[in-house]
Amino acid sequence: MPKGLYVGVDVGGTKIAAALVDGKGRILLRDKTATPRDGKPKGVLKAISVLVKGLLNEGGLRRKDLLGVGAGVPGIVDGEGRMLAAPNVALAGVRVGRELEKALGADAVVGNDVNLGVLGEQWLGAARGHENVVGIFPGTGVGGGVIVGGELLLGTHGAAAELGHIVVDPEGPVCGCGIRGCLEALASRTAIEKDIRRALRRGERSLIRDWLGKAPKVIKSKVLAKALKRKDPVVMHAFHQAAQALGLACVSLRHVFDPELFVFGGGLVEACGQHLLPAVQDALDEDPLFKKVSSCEAVPSELGDDAVILGAVALAKRTL
Ligand SMILES: [Zn+2]
Repeated sequence: MPKGLYVGVDVGGTKIAAALVDGKGRILLRDKTATPRDGKPKGVLKAISVLVKGLLNEGGLRRKDLLGVGAGVPGIVDGEGRMLAAPNVALAGVRVGRELEKALGADAVVGNDVNLGVLGEQWLGAARGHENVVGIFPGTGVGGGVIVGGELLLGTHGAAAELGHIVVDPEGPVCGCGIRGCLEALASRTAIEKDIRRALRRGERSLIRDWLGKAPKVIKSKVLAKALKRKDPVVMHAFHQAAQALGLACVSLRHVFDPELFVFGGGLVEACGQHLLPAVQDALDEDPLFKKVSSCEAVPSELGDDAVILGAVALAKRTL
């Protein structure tokens, strides 16, 4: 096992994934565990440190062989590594970086998971070599990350780039955050599922009803992809609506950030991106103001599930 390694950690609401990574971004070992859901930070921090120590043991490494640990967490992280908001994991108010340093005896840095996902894509994925990038990850919500001049945009409190909560339709549905017509309320997987459920309740014909019944609880990305392939009108309509909202958001974001490209990631895009991205590209191409400035591409993520882990390592490399 070579020396000078990093550990990248992706802390999610249901699972924590970690990997031993070299300075070039090659993943040497990986492992994952379930996220403790008893509402206590102690359990989550313990699970992370057990996972990291397990990787070191398995690799036959000592802590001094480790250059640092980077962790992506689902929520808002301030400049001191404290989580200001953490809707999906029991870490609110915790200085995650410092706690991990104490538990592991190694330097640690923490960032918002989607921000780090975009940083990962910029280091080794779809946005390789680009200095100005906007990333959008539709899933349960819609996560965002913005890189300006090669650096992550963090804002005053680390809360910049919450792109899911920009308003694209003031008449639209109320978002989980309380604002009406957020991108997240129109283009997340949750929003797409809601749209499909409403159509099923209205009695519209759909393969989803044949496969999952009249009131499906969860509609997985794979099932959506299958229905799209068969041109199911209900699912196609839901994706059309979501793509329109994403297109509007991207046109506005382009006017703010003038990025070289938009990267779209997450499981929904992986499974169904070909039914979202072309409409976003059309919206970008038709933008009359920027037609004369440049072209700008909407591309899918290349790193998939590894984007956050590699972005966390990129952050550790830059910071530590
Ligand atoms: Zn919102």
